[in-house]
Amino acid sequence: MGLSFLAPVRAILENRREGLYCIPGDFYVDPVRRVPRAIITHGHADHARTGHETVLATPQTIAIMQARSGRNCAGRFEPLDYGKPLCINDVTVTLRPAGHVLGSAQVVMEYKGYRIVAPGDFKRSPDPTCAPFEPVSCHCFITEATFGLPLFQLPPVEDELAKLMQSLRLFPQCTHVLLAYSLGKAQQLIALLRRQGLVDPILVHPSVWDVCQVYEAFGVAMGVLEKLPQNPSREKNMRGIAVMPPGRGSTGLVELFGNHRTVGASGWLHTSKGRKQRTCDLPLVISDHADWLELLRTIEETHAETVLVTHGPDAALKRALHGGPVNCAGLTEL
Ligand SMILES: [Zn+2]
Repeated sequence: MGLSFLAPVRAILENRREGLYCIPGDFYVDPVRRVPRAIITHGHADHARTGHETVLATPQTIAIMQARSGRNCAGRFEPLDYGKPLCINDVTVTLRPAGHVLGSAQVVMEYKGYRIVAPGDFKRSPDPTCAPFEPVSCHCFITEATFGLPLFQLPPVEDELAKLMQSLRLFPQCTHVLLAYSLGKAQQLIALLRRQGLVDPILVHPSVWDVCQVYEAFGVAMGVLEKLPQNPSREKNMRGIAVMPPGRGSTGLVELFGNHRTVGASGWLHTSKGRKQRTCDLPLVISDHADWLELLRTIEETHAETVLVTHGPDAALKRALHGGPVNCAGLTEL
């Protein structure tokens, strides 16, 4: 298949060693190396790298970056609110909500009437802690494809959390250790648990606590939280829910919490392979990325004629879109 349909995109975007580069705008989107000017879609470390000369992002993303990496993690910060167009050289840049974490933004780039949307990571499932994904009509949509396989059709997040609420009733003597990433997933789950009626204080790891402070500062209520002390003792007699980042695995959890149940929360727990790799007492299939059907729905809603796939497999999406009105290629083919 020829890639001539990429010509209008190639006039605007280039895949460089530093990352995705907008030629007429002279800026990068989520660059992987230090650059003079970066637009950052959201605060996750694989998108929000430090050391750029100038970072343009939503005020929320800037606050998250500064809370996690220090106030001077970029030479200069340029906040841009959702929906406010900004002209950078000859490119009109607008940020639109991506529904992924607080402040996450799709970067809308318009040059000579051709519109490209780079959403970074996005999700479509309910999350009371951030503005929901807003479909933007465009010529070219650069989709992530973390779950870009038809087998990833994930259950409703409310159904999964109901399992945790049931476990809290069945095992009241256990601390439920919810393993969730410090930025985004942790706050989404805390807020959704509050919606399900959980009012008890929730114990959180210091890295989760720091991010929750940023969310609270932007008006996102987390309910009563308790910061896990540096040297916790079991005499504290912890109960209920403790939110910990998953990286540490189950190491030391017995020492920390005594009688406990580990609760995983990941889209990868949808498959038996994922469940084997991430052993936990209660696996919840909850993701902060769009699943397969949400990817297809989102592509349709953007009315894009060209889709570029990144952060995941592109073969299944290419097959699904083949023969239709949408041309599809991997971002690496740009
Ligand atoms: Zn992310």
